[in-house]
Amino acid sequence: MAYDKIVIPSEGARISVREGKLLVPDHPILLFIEGDGIGPDITRASMRIWDAAVQKVYGGQRKVAWAEIYAGEKAFNTYGDYFPQESLAAIREFYVGIKGPLTTPVGGGFRSLNVALRLELDLYACVRPVRWFPNVPSPVRHPEKVDVVIFRENTEDVYAGIEYKAGSPENEKLARFLREEMGAHFFEGAGIGIKPMSAFGTKRLVRKAIRYAIEYGRKSVTFVHKGNIQKFTEGAFRNWGYELAKEEFGDITITEDELWQAPYNGQAPAGKIVIKDRIADIMFQMMLLRPDEFDVIATPNLNGDYLSDAVAAQVGGVGIAPGSNIGDHMAVFEATHGTAPKYSNLDKVNPGSLLLSGVMMLDYIGWKEAGQAIIEAYVKTVEQGIVTYDFARQMQGATEVKTSEFASAIIANL
Ligand code: NAP
Repeated sequence: MAYDKIVIPSEGARISVREGKLLVPDHPILLFIEGDGIGPDITRASMRIWDAAVQKVYGGQRKVAWAEIYAGEKAFNTYGDYFPQESLAAIREFYVGIKGPLTTPVGGGFRSLNVALRLELDLYACVRPVRWFPNVPSPVRHPEKVDVVIFRENTEDVYAGIEYKAGSPENEKLARFLREEMGAHFFEGAGIGIKPMSAFGTKRLVRKAIRYAIEYGRKSVTFVHKGNIQKFTEGAFRNWGYELAKEEFGDITITEDELWQAPYNGQAPAGKIVIKDRIADIMFQMMLLRPDEFDVIATPNLNGDYLSDAVAAQVGGVGIAPGSNIGDHMAVFEATHGTAPKYSNLDKVNPGSLLLSGVMMLDYIGWKEAGQAIIEAYVKTVEQGIVTYDFARQMQGATEVKTSEFASAIIANL
């Protein structure tokens, strides 16, 4: 389609989908949103690294054709709109992109640009791998035991936005209905929020999590829920999860219950993925005490929101935690931290979160070797003590460098 402000690079070709699979040409058009605040600094630095790794690994045979699309403040300055329709149209046409952090405009017509993007494009799985890299400062004694991939449901739960303010006519109407027709009891003047969770929403998330576990040779998938209290939402999430595992992946999965019956005695047969579940509150303890018992995790929206930040803190925090929002084929990879406005344009912050989100993007399009090369160079650079300010203040004898210098050091180590 024709775009007004977006320039589509003529040397690139479109990613397409055939028979449910992504077809990636050698010069794919990938989209990027620079982001606000520290966004331009980390995008510039990361892009140099992604391009250098692709060049190094594929010797010029493969190359990304970048197309900039707009959201946030740059979009407002370009279009007079924080969230232009043509940016959405471009993601629908080209499937894959990466974004820096965006400011949520105060008093805007929507709660957050990020939430709007996920809902508009139905990017229903928020996928966050959390693992530790050697020498990265961590608050726990054994960060190396953390290596999980969290699949957080992105479209349902209390995030669906079905909320009624205390005292509003809608609230009073609903409260009357709940009391008089449903026999519910709650305090007068309560705000009311509704938590929808469906078999459809749950199963498509769990399907993605199990497929990921199969593709990456992971050992288990754990459903994290609060089903002991919220039986028909969180409890149903758990039940639908087991149902899906049995219906669609029965030949390759085994439940934890089955595992403790003869003949297995707790030992998973080779090639089988163990399906288990944990209640959310105990899961937070277990991730601190015995994180190596967990691998892929699938969880509803709110649990996933808390859990992914808490687990990220164990391996070094938001400065390096990557993330992505993935639908059936469309995927937007993103830095998980915000715009840190006080550091804007200082060339100071850690580009790790966006950089590693880009590694996920390279994996997603099947360029896994390039992603692996970046990880190795990143580990080597941190090992040499070359780090940005956030790591430097927690490491002894480190050399603090600027964002751009950190990128140059990684490129030199590729
Ligand atoms: P933030 O921007 O994530 O910054 C909080 C603190 O985290 C920073 O002051 C800094 O800590 C540290 N930090 C963040 N990114 C870092 C990086 N790349 N390297 C090193 N340290 C980093 O959170 P916020 O101040 O609450 O939010 C600011 C704006 O971002 C808001 O408008 C919010 O809506 C938006 N936001 C956007 C997203 C998104 O686009 N996905 C996510 C969250 C927030 P120190 O000061 O201790 O160095």
